[in-house]
Amino acid sequence: MSTTMTFTIDGKPCIAEQGSYILGAAKQNGIYIPSLCNIDGVAPRGSCRICTVKVNDKLMAACSTPVTEGMTIENDTEELREIRSQILELLFVEGNHFCPSCEKSGNCELQALGYRFKMMIPRYPYQFPMREIDAAMPKLVKDHNRCILCKRCIRAIKTDDGKNLFAFKDRGHKLTISIDPSLASTITDELAERAAKICPVGALLKKEVGFAQPIGTRTYDLEPIGAEVERAGTAK
Ligand code: SF4
Repeated sequence: MSTTMTFTIDGKPCIAEQGSYILGAAKQNGIYIPSLCNIDGVAPRGSCRICTVKVNDKLMAACSTPVTEGMTIENDTEELREIRSQILELLFVEGNHFCPSCEKSGNCELQALGYRFKMMIPRYPYQFPMREIDAAMPKLVKDHNRCILCKRCIRAIKTDDGKNLFAFKDRGHKLTISIDPSLASTITDELAERAAKICPVGALLKKEVGFAQPIGTRTYDLEPIGAEVERAGTAK
């Protein structure tokens, strides 16, 4: 029995292994679908919804929807670009994202998507919420102003003995990321670096390494987000 499936994205014939999700399968076929919460190799959660695609006229999260044989997927359409732009703008106005003063500028996936979607002035009013910056931990700074609640840190960052370092605290508009204080005081530099790297924005920063990588040389200073996936697709 074949272990591969055929399907189309925007009319392009694609192939994927059985059990693949749309987002990963698209990537393997050189098609970029934006995402802020997905992590390669970690079970998807469909938190940010910026990967919304259309399957059989229904809006679905590409990261958590499995591909099926013969599936017809819409990705790069005006309707979906508009939905993604709205989600992006909501993320920007809901927090305090001051890109020019952020250490993550140039490596920030939210900022990079803002450029990719040619975002100018959001259509929604800025909320300017009052949020804390927690700098009490020895190796990490946690800036709630920039957190987009994507859950990447909760899902991907664990101590050597498998304990979760991050968790959600409170509910609704009070929902925040919390860190176990006793674990946070003992984490290694390597784990702190991993946490800062997995965070798509500048909400988790490793202490004492500010601007080690010069502005202008960072990932999305050099090419737009998604360009690598699309380049691999055109090379096929
Ligand atoms: S701290 Fe970063 S990785 Fe964790 S939920 Fe917030 S934005 Fe996502």
